[in-house]
Amino acid sequence: MGPWDGPGHETGAVTPPVFQTSLFTKPSFRTFVQQQAAEHDEYVYSRGTNPTVAFLEQRLALLEGGEAAKCFGSGMGAISAVLAGLLGSGDHVLFVNNVYGPTLELAERLGAFGIEHTVLTEDTGPDAVEAHIRPDTALIYLESPGTMRMKVLDLPAITAVARRRGVRTAIDNTWATPLFQKPLALGADLAIHSLTKYIGGHSDVVGGAVVGTRPLIREIFYNGHQLFGSVMSATEASMVLRGLRTLPVRMEEHRRNAERVIDYLATRPEAAVVHHPYAEHGPDAEITARQFSGFSGLLSFELAEATFERVARFIDALSLFRTGVSWGGYESLVTSPLRPDNEAQLRAKGVPPGTVRLSVGLEGADRQIADLEAAFTTL
Ligand SMILES: *Cc1c(COP(=O)(O)O)cnc(C)c1O
Repeated sequence: MGPWDGPGHETGAVTPPVFQTSLFTKPSFRTFVQQQAAEHDEYVYSRGTNPTVAFLEQRLALLEGGEAAKCFGSGMGAISAVLAGLLGSGDHVLFVNNVYGPTLELAERLGAFGIEHTVLTEDTGPDAVEAHIRPDTALIYLESPGTMRMKVLDLPAITAVARRRGVRTAIDNTWATPLFQKPLALGADLAIHSLTKYIGGHSDVVGGAVVGTRPLIREIFYNGHQLFGSVMSATEASMVLRGLRTLPVRMEEHRRNAERVIDYLATRPEAAVVHHPYAEHGPDAEITARQFSGFSGLLSFELAEATFERVARFIDALSLFRTGVSWGGYESLVTSPLRPDNEAQLRAKGVPPGTVRLSVGLEGADRQIADLEAAFTTL
Protein backbone atom coordinates (compact mmCIF):
# COMPACT_ATOMS: atom_id res chain seq x y z
CA MET A 1 0.00 0.00 0.00
CA GLY A 2 1.44 3.37 -1.00
CA PRO A 3 1.94 6.15 1.53
CA TRP A 4 -0.72 8.73 2.30
CA ASP A 5 -0.53 11.32 -0.47
CA GLY A 6 -3.52 13.46 0.45
CA PRO A 7 -3.91 16.63 2.52
CA GLY A 8 -1.27 16.83 5.24
CA HIS A 9 1.15 14.39 3.56
CA GLU A 10 3.96 16.98 3.89
CA THR A 11 4.07 16.12 7.60
CA GLY A 12 5.48 12.75 6.63
CA ALA A 13 2.64 10.88 8.36
CA VAL A 14 2.66 7.25 7.23
CA THR A 15 -1.02 6.75 7.93
CA PRO A 16 -3.81 8.97 6.66
CA PRO A 17 -5.31 11.47 9.08
CA VAL A 18 -8.82 10.63 10.23
CA PHE A 19 -10.85 13.47 8.78
CA GLN A 20 -13.48 13.46 11.49
CA THR A 21 -15.61 16.21 9.95
CA SER A 22 -19.12 16.18 8.58
CA LEU A 23 -18.58 19.00 6.06
CA PHE A 24 -15.91 20.92 4.17
CA THR A 25 -16.16 24.71 3.81
CA LYS A 26 -15.12 26.46 0.60
CA PRO A 27 -13.20 29.71 0.02
CA SER A 28 -15.96 31.20 -2.17
CA PHE A 29 -19.58 30.58 -3.00
CA ARG A 30 -18.58 30.00 -6.66
CA THR A 31 -16.17 27.19 -5.63
CA PHE A 32 -18.86 25.75 -3.39
CA VAL A 33 -21.36 25.68 -6.25
CA GLN A 34 -18.85 24.06 -8.63
CA GLN A 35 -17.77 21.43 -6.16
CA GLN A 36 -21.27 20.60 -5.05
CA ALA A 37 -22.12 19.81 -8.68
CA ALA A 38 -19.32 17.19 -8.68
CA GLU A 39 -19.75 15.71 -5.22
CA HIS A 40 -18.47 12.28 -6.27
CA ASP A 41 -15.01 13.87 -6.77
CA GLU A 42 -15.03 16.79 -4.31
CA TYR A 43 -15.08 17.03 -0.53
CA VAL A 44 -18.37 18.74 0.27
CA TYR A 45 -20.14 16.59 2.86
CA SER A 46 -18.99 13.38 4.54
CA ARG A 47 -22.15 11.54 3.54
CA GLY A 48 -20.70 11.80 0.04
CA THR A 49 -16.90 11.88 0.05
CA ASN A 50 -14.29 12.18 2.78
CA PRO A 51 -10.49 12.14 2.30
CA THR A 52 -9.82 9.18 4.64
CA VAL A 53 -12.58 7.14 3.04
CA ALA A 54 -11.48 8.23 -0.45
CA PHE A 55 -7.95 6.97 0.27
CA LEU A 56 -9.38 3.54 1.14
CA GLU A 57 -11.50 3.67 -2.03
CA GLN A 58 -8.42 4.34 -4.17
CA ARG A 59 -6.56 1.44 -2.57
CA LEU A 60 -9.47 -0.95 -3.05
CA ALA A 61 -9.84 0.09 -6.69
CA LEU A 62 -6.13 -0.56 -7.26
CA LEU A 63 -6.30 -3.94 -5.57
CA GLU A 64 -9.33 -5.07 -7.60
CA GLY A 65 -7.94 -3.62 -10.83
CA GLY A 66 -10.91 -1.26 -11.23
CA GLU A 67 -11.05 2.45 -12.08
CA ALA A 68 -13.00 3.54 -9.02
CA ALA A 69 -14.55 2.29 -5.79
CA LYS A 70 -17.15 3.46 -3.31
CA CYS A 71 -17.24 2.44 0.34
CA PHE A 72 -20.39 1.93 2.39
CA GLY A 73 -21.44 1.50 6.00
CA SER A 74 -21.79 -2.27 5.48
CA GLY A 75 -21.61 -4.94 2.80
CA MET A 76 -25.42 -4.85 2.61
CA GLY A 77 -25.19 -1.08 2.14
CA ALA A 78 -23.03 -1.73 -0.92
CA ILE A 79 -25.33 -4.48 -2.22
CA SER A 80 -28.46 -2.31 -1.69
CA ALA A 81 -26.85 0.60 -3.51
CA VAL A 82 -25.96 -1.63 -6.47
CA LEU A 83 -29.37 -3.29 -6.76
CA ALA A 84 -31.63 -0.35 -5.94
CA GLY A 85 -29.29 2.24 -7.45
CA LEU A 86 -28.91 0.58 -10.85
CA LEU A 87 -32.29 -1.10 -11.30
CA GLY A 88 -35.86 0.11 -11.63
CA SER A 89 -39.40 -1.09 -12.06
CA GLY A 90 -39.64 -3.55 -14.95
CA ASP A 91 -36.09 -4.85 -14.53
CA HIS A 92 -35.20 -8.47 -13.79
CA VAL A 93 -32.15 -9.74 -11.86
CA LEU A 94 -30.69 -13.21 -12.27
CA PHE A 95 -28.94 -14.42 -9.10
CA VAL A 96 -26.49 -17.24 -9.71
CA ASN A 97 -25.31 -19.56 -6.89
CA ASN A 98 -26.32 -19.81 -3.21
CA VAL A 99 -25.85 -16.10 -2.67
CA TYR A 100 -25.74 -14.44 0.76
CA GLY A 101 -29.17 -14.78 2.44
CA PRO A 102 -29.88 -11.09 3.13
CA THR A 103 -29.07 -10.30 -0.53
CA LEU A 104 -31.96 -12.55 -1.52
CA GLU A 105 -34.20 -11.03 1.17
CA LEU A 106 -33.44 -7.64 -0.40
CA ALA A 107 -34.33 -9.06 -3.81
CA GLU A 108 -37.70 -10.18 -2.38
CA ARG A 109 -38.22 -6.70 -0.95
CA LEU A 110 -37.44 -5.09 -4.31
CA GLY A 111 -40.38 -7.04 -5.74
CA ALA A 112 -42.56 -4.39 -4.06
CA PHE A 113 -40.91 -1.83 -6.39
CA GLY A 114 -41.43 -3.83 -9.58
CA ILE A 115 -38.00 -5.49 -9.75
CA GLU A 116 -38.30 -9.23 -10.40
CA HIS A 117 -35.69 -11.89 -9.85
CA THR A 118 -34.77 -15.53 -10.45
CA VAL A 119 -32.31 -17.59 -8.39
CA LEU A 120 -30.20 -20.27 -10.07
CA THR A 121 -28.52 -22.67 -7.63
CA GLU A 122 -28.22 -26.13 -9.16
CA ASP A 123 -26.96 -25.90 -12.72
CA THR A 124 -24.95 -22.67 -12.63
CA GLY A 125 -22.97 -23.19 -15.86
CA PRO A 126 -22.90 -20.60 -18.67
CA ASP A 127 -25.57 -22.41 -20.72
CA ALA A 128 -28.01 -22.48 -17.80
CA VAL A 129 -27.29 -18.81 -17.11
CA GLU A 130 -27.96 -17.94 -20.75
CA ALA A 131 -31.19 -19.94 -20.74
CA HIS A 132 -32.46 -17.87 -17.78
CA ILE A 133 -31.67 -14.45 -19.26
CA ARG A 134 -34.94 -12.69 -20.11
CA PRO A 135 -35.48 -9.67 -22.37
CA ASP A 136 -35.88 -7.56 -19.21
CA THR A 137 -32.81 -8.97 -17.40
CA ALA A 138 -30.74 -5.93 -16.40
CA LEU A 139 -28.24 -7.53 -14.04
CA ILE A 140 -26.65 -10.92 -13.40
CA TYR A 141 -25.58 -11.11 -9.77
CA LEU A 142 -22.98 -13.72 -8.88
CA GLU A 143 -21.24 -14.97 -5.76
CA SER A 144 -18.26 -17.29 -6.13
CA PRO A 145 -17.67 -19.27 -4.17
CA GLY A 146 -21.02 -19.16 -2.40
CA THR A 147 -20.30 -18.82 1.31
CA MET A 148 -22.29 -21.82 2.56
CA ARG A 149 -21.69 -24.59 0.00
CA MET A 150 -18.55 -22.90 -1.45
CA LYS A 151 -19.55 -23.77 -5.01
CA VAL A 152 -17.46 -21.94 -7.61
CA LEU A 153 -18.70 -20.32 -10.82
CA ASP A 154 -16.95 -20.20 -14.19
CA LEU A 155 -16.62 -16.41 -14.24
CA PRO A 156 -15.04 -15.86 -17.71
CA ALA A 157 -17.68 -18.09 -19.36
CA ILE A 158 -20.63 -16.49 -17.51
CA THR A 159 -19.45 -12.89 -18.00
CA ALA A 160 -18.86 -13.62 -21.71
CA VAL A 161 -22.49 -14.76 -22.06
CA ALA A 162 -23.66 -11.66 -20.18
CA ARG A 163 -21.63 -9.33 -22.39
CA ARG A 164 -22.89 -10.98 -25.56
CA ARG A 165 -26.46 -10.52 -24.29
CA GLY A 166 -25.81 -6.93 -23.14
CA VAL A 167 -26.40 -7.63 -19.44
CA ARG A 168 -24.24 -6.20 -16.64
CA THR A 169 -22.64 -8.49 -14.07
CA ALA A 170 -21.86 -7.90 -10.40
CA ILE A 171 -20.07 -10.39 -8.16
CA ASP A 172 -19.79 -10.66 -4.41
CA ASN A 173 -16.04 -11.32 -4.03
CA THR A 174 -15.95 -11.29 -0.23
CA TRP A 175 -14.74 -14.88 0.21
CA ALA A 176 -11.66 -14.66 -1.99
CA THR A 177 -10.76 -11.02 -1.32
CA PRO A 178 -9.20 -9.14 -4.26
CA LEU A 179 -5.90 -10.85 -3.42
CA PHE A 180 -7.07 -14.28 -4.52
CA GLN A 181 -9.67 -13.59 -7.22
CA LYS A 182 -9.88 -10.63 -9.63
CA PRO A 183 -13.40 -10.72 -11.09
CA LEU A 184 -13.03 -7.51 -13.11
CA ALA A 185 -10.14 -9.06 -15.05
CA LEU A 186 -12.41 -12.09 -15.61
CA GLY A 187 -15.08 -9.91 -17.24
CA ALA A 188 -17.35 -8.76 -14.39
CA ASP A 189 -18.55 -5.14 -14.34
CA LEU A 190 -18.67 -4.77 -10.56
CA ALA A 191 -16.92 -6.43 -7.62
CA ILE A 192 -18.64 -6.14 -4.25
CA HIS A 193 -17.09 -6.68 -0.81
CA SER A 194 -18.17 -6.93 2.75
CA LEU A 195 -15.13 -5.25 4.32
CA THR A 196 -16.39 -6.65 7.63
CA LYS A 197 -14.78 -10.00 6.81
CA TYR A 198 -11.13 -10.51 5.77
CA ILE A 199 -10.34 -7.00 4.57
CA GLY A 200 -11.18 -5.37 7.92
CA GLY A 201 -9.92 -8.64 9.34
CA HIS A 202 -10.22 -7.99 13.10
CA SER A 203 -13.98 -8.31 13.75
CA ASP A 204 -14.09 -4.69 14.91
CA VAL A 205 -15.59 -2.85 11.96
CA VAL A 206 -18.59 -3.25 9.62
CA GLY A 207 -18.22 -1.93 6.08
CA GLY A 208 -18.71 -2.57 2.38
CA ALA A 209 -17.36 -1.55 -1.01
CA VAL A 210 -18.12 -1.68 -4.73
CA VAL A 211 -15.42 -1.48 -7.42
CA GLY A 212 -15.92 -0.91 -11.15
CA THR A 213 -15.58 1.61 -13.96
CA ARG A 214 -15.73 5.30 -13.16
CA PRO A 215 -19.15 5.86 -14.85
CA LEU A 216 -20.73 2.87 -13.12
CA ILE A 217 -19.40 3.86 -9.69
CA ARG A 218 -20.65 7.40 -10.31
CA GLU A 219 -24.12 6.07 -11.10
CA ILE A 220 -24.06 3.99 -7.90
CA PHE A 221 -22.77 7.03 -5.97
CA TYR A 222 -25.64 9.30 -7.01
CA ASN A 223 -28.50 6.79 -7.15
CA GLY A 224 -27.46 4.44 -4.37
CA HIS A 225 -24.88 5.83 -1.97
CA GLN A 226 -26.07 9.44 -1.69
CA LEU A 227 -29.75 8.61 -1.43
CA PHE A 228 -29.74 5.51 0.78
CA GLY A 229 -27.09 6.97 3.08
CA SER A 230 -25.18 3.82 4.03
CA VAL A 231 -22.00 5.73 4.82
CA MET A 232 -18.58 4.59 6.03
CA SER A 233 -17.08 6.94 8.59
CA ALA A 234 -13.50 8.23 8.43
CA THR A 235 -12.66 6.32 11.62
CA GLU A 236 -13.93 3.06 10.16
CA ALA A 237 -12.06 3.72 6.92
CA SER A 238 -8.81 4.14 8.86
CA MET A 239 -9.47 0.82 10.62
CA VAL A 240 -10.10 -0.93 7.30
CA LEU A 241 -6.90 0.64 5.93
CA ARG A 242 -5.02 -0.87 8.87
CA GLY A 243 -6.54 -4.24 8.02
CA LEU A 244 -5.53 -3.86 4.39
CA ARG A 245 -1.86 -3.49 5.35
CA THR A 246 -1.69 -7.00 6.79
CA LEU A 247 -4.15 -8.64 4.38
CA PRO A 248 -1.49 -10.66 2.45
CA VAL A 249 0.13 -12.10 5.59
CA ARG A 250 -3.18 -12.84 7.28
CA MET A 251 -4.63 -14.49 4.18
CA GLU A 252 -1.59 -16.71 3.79
CA GLU A 253 -2.00 -17.90 7.38
CA HIS A 254 -5.77 -18.43 7.01
CA ARG A 255 -5.02 -20.51 3.90
CA ARG A 256 -2.35 -22.58 5.63
CA ASN A 257 -4.57 -23.27 8.65
CA ALA A 258 -7.64 -24.05 6.49
CA GLU A 259 -5.71 -26.55 4.37
CA ARG A 260 -4.52 -28.41 7.47
CA VAL A 261 -8.03 -28.40 8.93
CA ILE A 262 -9.41 -29.75 5.63
CA ASP A 263 -6.75 -32.48 5.52
CA TYR A 264 -7.74 -33.38 9.08
CA LEU A 265 -11.50 -33.40 8.27
CA ALA A 266 -10.78 -35.83 5.42
CA THR A 267 -9.72 -38.37 8.09
CA ARG A 268 -13.02 -38.07 10.01
CA PRO A 269 -15.90 -40.31 8.90
CA GLU A 270 -18.37 -37.87 10.57
CA ALA A 271 -17.30 -35.07 8.18
CA ALA A 272 -18.76 -36.75 5.13
CA VAL A 273 -18.12 -34.04 2.54
CA VAL A 274 -15.93 -30.95 2.86
CA HIS A 275 -16.77 -27.85 0.82
CA HIS A 276 -13.89 -25.53 0.00
CA PRO A 277 -12.05 -24.94 -3.28
CA TYR A 278 -8.96 -26.71 -1.83
CA ALA A 279 -11.10 -29.82 -1.25
CA GLU A 280 -12.56 -29.66 -4.77
CA HIS A 281 -11.49 -32.66 -6.84
CA GLY A 282 -14.50 -32.91 -9.17
CA PRO A 283 -15.20 -31.00 -12.40
CA ASP A 284 -15.02 -27.65 -10.58
CA ALA A 285 -11.36 -28.24 -9.69
CA GLU A 286 -10.37 -26.91 -13.11
CA ILE A 287 -12.35 -23.67 -12.59
CA THR A 288 -10.75 -23.35 -9.15
CA ALA A 289 -7.23 -23.79 -10.54
CA ARG A 290 -7.85 -21.13 -13.20
CA GLN A 291 -9.58 -18.53 -11.10
CA PHE A 292 -8.05 -18.47 -7.63
CA SER A 293 -4.50 -17.54 -6.75
CA GLY A 294 -5.10 -18.56 -3.13
CA PHE A 295 -7.77 -19.69 -0.66
CA SER A 296 -9.39 -18.11 2.34
CA GLY A 297 -10.28 -19.89 5.57
CA LEU A 298 -14.07 -20.19 5.29
CA LEU A 299 -15.26 -23.74 4.63
CA SER A 300 -18.14 -26.04 5.38
CA PHE A 301 -18.62 -29.74 5.80
CA GLU A 302 -21.60 -32.06 6.01
CA LEU A 303 -21.97 -33.73 9.37
CA ALA A 304 -23.05 -37.32 8.80
CA GLU A 305 -26.44 -38.48 10.14
CA ALA A 306 -27.37 -34.86 10.79
CA THR A 307 -30.23 -33.95 13.06
CA PHE A 308 -30.59 -30.58 14.77
CA GLU A 309 -29.61 -32.20 18.08
CA ARG A 310 -26.46 -33.76 16.66
CA VAL A 311 -25.35 -30.53 14.93
CA ALA A 312 -26.03 -28.58 18.14
CA ARG A 313 -24.09 -31.15 20.20
CA PHE A 314 -21.09 -30.87 17.88
CA ILE A 315 -21.12 -27.06 17.82
CA ASP A 316 -21.55 -26.82 21.58
CA ALA A 317 -18.65 -29.22 22.13
CA LEU A 318 -16.27 -26.85 20.37
CA SER A 319 -14.57 -24.23 22.48
CA LEU A 320 -11.86 -22.56 20.37
CA PHE A 321 -14.36 -22.31 17.48
CA ARG A 322 -16.93 -19.98 18.98
CA THR A 323 -20.54 -19.83 17.84
CA GLY A 324 -21.54 -16.77 15.87
CA VAL A 325 -22.22 -15.04 12.57
CA SER A 326 -19.67 -13.36 10.31
CA TRP A 327 -16.12 -14.59 9.58
CA GLY A 328 -12.70 -13.46 8.46
CA GLY A 329 -11.27 -12.30 11.79
CA TYR A 330 -8.59 -13.65 14.14
CA GLU A 331 -10.93 -15.94 16.05
CA SER A 332 -12.22 -19.22 14.64
CA LEU A 333 -16.02 -19.37 14.36
CA VAL A 334 -18.64 -22.02 13.75
CA THR A 335 -22.28 -21.94 12.67
CA SER A 336 -24.84 -23.94 10.72
CA PRO A 337 -27.85 -22.94 8.60
CA LEU A 338 -29.85 -25.74 10.30
CA ARG A 339 -32.76 -24.79 12.55
CA PRO A 340 -35.16 -27.15 14.35
CA ASP A 341 -37.77 -26.66 11.60
CA ASN A 342 -36.06 -25.80 8.30
CA GLU A 343 -34.69 -29.07 6.95
CA ALA A 344 -37.06 -29.15 3.97
CA GLN A 345 -36.36 -25.51 3.08
CA LEU A 346 -32.62 -26.12 3.16
CA ARG A 347 -32.94 -29.16 0.90
CA ALA A 348 -35.05 -27.11 -1.54
CA LYS A 349 -32.23 -24.57 -1.70
CA GLY A 350 -29.70 -27.35 -2.28
CA VAL A 351 -28.08 -26.91 1.14
CA PRO A 352 -27.51 -30.21 2.99
CA PRO A 353 -29.08 -29.91 6.49
CA GLY A 354 -25.91 -31.17 8.20
CA THR A 355 -23.87 -28.26 6.85
CA VAL A 356 -21.49 -26.93 9.49
CA ARG A 357 -19.56 -23.81 8.54
CA LEU A 358 -16.13 -23.06 9.97
CA SER A 359 -14.24 -19.79 9.76
CA VAL A 360 -10.69 -20.98 10.33
CA GLY A 361 -8.98 -18.14 12.16
CA LEU A 362 -5.40 -17.40 13.11
CA GLU A 363 -4.95 -19.34 16.37
CA GLY A 364 -2.93 -22.02 14.58
CA ALA A 365 -3.95 -25.31 12.97
CA ASP A 366 -2.74 -27.47 15.90
CA ARG A 367 -5.17 -25.83 18.31
CA GLN A 368 -7.96 -25.73 15.73
CA ILE A 369 -7.61 -29.44 14.92
CA ALA A 370 -7.42 -30.38 18.62
CA ASP A 371 -10.67 -28.50 19.21
CA LEU A 372 -12.42 -30.28 16.33
CA GLU A 373 -11.04 -33.65 17.43
CA ALA A 374 -12.40 -33.14 20.95
CA ALA A 375 -15.83 -32.21 19.58
CA PHE A 376 -15.99 -35.22 17.22
CA THR A 377 -15.28 -37.62 20.08
CA THR A 378 -18.40 -36.38 21.91
CA LEU A 379 -20.70 -37.44 19.06
C1 LIG B 1 -21.28 -10.65 5.45
C2 LIG B 1 -21.53 -10.75 3.99
C3 LIG B 1 -22.20 -9.76 3.30
C4 LIG B 1 -22.82 -8.57 3.99
O1 LIG B 1 -21.88 -7.76 4.56
P1 LIG B 1 -22.18 -6.88 5.89
O2 LIG B 1 -20.93 -6.11 6.04
O3 LIG B 1 -22.46 -7.85 6.98
O4 LIG B 1 -23.37 -6.04 5.58
C5 LIG B 1 -22.34 -9.90 1.94
N1 LIG B 1 -21.86 -10.97 1.29
C6 LIG B 1 -21.22 -11.96 1.93
C7 LIG B 1 -20.72 -13.12 1.15
C8 LIG B 1 -21.04 -11.89 3.30
O5 LIG B 1 -20.44 -12.89 3.94
